[in-house]
Amino acid sequence: MSLLDRLRFRRDHRFTMAHAHEYLDGELDEHGRERIHEHTGLCPECRHMIATLRRTLRGLAGLRGPEDGDVALGVIARLRDEG
Ligand SMILES: [Zn+2]
Repeated sequence: MSLLDRLRFRRDHRFTMAHAHEYLDGELDEHGRERIHEHTGLCPECRHMIATLRRTLRGLAGLRGPEDGDVALGVIARLRDEG
C-alpha cells in the first residue's frame, strides 16, 4: 500500500467510524455510502463495528415496538401483584 493509499485509508476509517450510524439509518448521501462501502471492504475493524452497530440498532428498534412495550407492562403488573 502506498503512502497516499494509507492516508486515504486512515481518512476513510475516521469517516466510517464517525458516520456509521447515519450510514445504517440511510441518512448518508450516495457519495458517503460508497465511501463507507468501499472502506468496509478493506477494513475488518470497520466491518465488525458496522455489524455490531446494526445488531444494536435493530435491538433498540425492537425494544421500542408495541409488543415489547406490552411485555414490559405485563412484567410491571406482575411485580406489583407480587409486591
Ligand atoms: Zn476502518
